[in-house]
Amino acid sequence: MTSSVTAPESATAAVALSGVTKVYGRGEAAVLALDGLSLDVAPGEFVCLVGASGCGKSTLLNLVAGLDRPSGGRIAIDRDANPGLMFQEPALFPWLSVAANVEMPLKLRGVPRAERRRRVAELLETVHLGGFGRRQPHELSGGMRQRAALARTLALDTPVLLMDEPFGALDAMTRDLLHDELERIWSQRRLTVLFVTHNVREAARLADRIVLLSSRPGRIIYETRVAVSRPRRIDAPEVAAIAAEVTDRLRTEVGRHGQ
Ligand code: ADP
Ligand code: MG
Repeated sequence: MTSSVTAPESATAAVALSGVTKVYGRGEAAVLALDGLSLDVAPGEFVCLVGASGCGKSTLLNLVAGLDRPSGGRIAIDRDANPGLMFQEPALFPWLSVAANVEMPLKLRGVPRAERRRRVAELLETVHLGGFGRRQPHELSGGMRQRAALARTLALDTPVLLMDEPFGALDAMTRDLLHDELERIWSQRRLTVLFVTHNVREAARLADRIVLLSSRPGRIIYETRVAVSRPRRIDAPEVAAIAAEVTDRLRTEVGRHGQ
């Protein structure tokens, strides 16, 4: 078999990392952020990556997103997948209306105007922002801004979503609602999601599989399948039990590093 730069090694993976290492800086100042990390995410799988602050979660996501290059190892992503990114800050263009923000990826792809209108309306409905298209981002609550950012990401029509603590700045109630919406959209669109969080309960609420990273340098030290039926509630006992298990592992890991 010939190897390719872009196609995943394993025919079944949407995202595949193999022996990925990342070093920031050089010489004495060099920081080893990731150390030989391998991970396959199956198409349609929802994987949550958890770990203590500074363990390399954002580094990993940025590498998968192509925002930075690994120092070693290989990253492969489904050839059609120009992954959609979402961060803690919604990063909307403040001078554009919500609709114009969502329209941007369609415009960049050259989608004709009438089709763009239709898609924007549909996407805003999907994230329950129908009727808010003409507002400016600053007129929306934090939760609504994240919904708008999600709609804009979905406008990319990509099968792979990479999310870095996207709901980290939201209050618990708003976060719960967005969990419900993300779960619904993920399942309807059969998306592959790699979701970074330091919130273990959020991971147990959302994930098919939770992957726990060690403190720096990041390595996978534990993973578990979340075999709880959906839709889930964050306060369901089965979800809480898995969160407790992962929290224990995380505490042991953080304790080991004396942080
Ligand atoms: P996390 O997202 O898990 O909190 P990061 O991936 O942001 O962790 O960071 C992992 C480690 O790499 C941290 O020690 C951080 O200080 C370091 N790091 C991240 N980005 C850079 C950078 N651009 N230059 C130097 N060090 C960095
Ligand atoms: Mg981070």
